[in-house]
Amino acid sequence: MAFTLPNLPYDLDALSPHISAETLKFHHGKHHKTYVDKLNEAIEGTPYADLSLGEIIQKSWQKDWGVFNNAGQHWNHSFFWYCLTPDGSGGPSGDLKRQIDKDFGSFDAFQKEFADKAAKQFGSGWAWLALDGESLKVVTTANAELPMLQGAKALLTCDVWEHAYYLDYQNERPKFIDAFLKNLANWTFAAEQFELRGEGDWLSARNYQEAQHSFAKSGAAESGGRAAAEALDSPEGAALEEARQRTGKRANR
Ligand code: MN
Repeated sequence: MAFTLPNLPYDLDALSPHISAETLKFHHGKHHKTYVDKLNEAIEGTPYADLSLGEIIQKSWQKDWGVFNNAGQHWNHSFFWYCLTPDGSGGPSGDLKRQIDKDFGSFDAFQKEFADKAAKQFGSGWAWLALDGESLKVVTTANAELPMLQGAKALLTCDVWEHAYYLDYQNERPKFIDAFLKNLANWTFAAEQFELRGEGDWLSARNYQEAQHSFAKSGAAESGGRAAAEALDSPEGAALEEARQRTGKRANR
């Protein structure tokens, strides 16, 4: 199965000024796209081609780095786009808020630990809020790795590769992390992942939502309705209606 680059769930300039349209254009349109293209090239004609993305990640880790790095980065970025939102200033609520207070002491303490670990991740990698068993943890992973490989479930992530922030913040990674925590983190998405205990197939759920959204936008439903109304108004439609009335049967609903 060939993988495809998912659409961004917002406009290119939606996260500006915290993440510029220029950064998103390169990060999504070049970096993420390249991971998808290279993954497809690497798995074509191999047994990996029949596996899901999660299975490819598990089976190629520490074995086929050319496959793993691109598969991991495809998963991480697809997840990351949903971890960002233009309305990210609110913070968590409900069950997730209570669990954060329980495991970190407070939301402030969580933010401090996340910012600290994300800033100290040496070289390229990711910072995560993850569910490990029954408790929440902040973990960092190097390069293309992800919490799934340690048996934990991802709830929220921030990409700390230089390509994620260099155009907007140059070498000042902590400023980017601060903007992520204060303005961009999608706590609604994290709460959904927490509710599903990380077991939900968020990728297929999101793909379904996207497909529904583009179907609604395409006007296909509307033009289908118009075609049906026109058919009823046509001479054939009128003849059918007459026949229906003669037999006294109700319209086929
Ligand atoms: Mn990236």
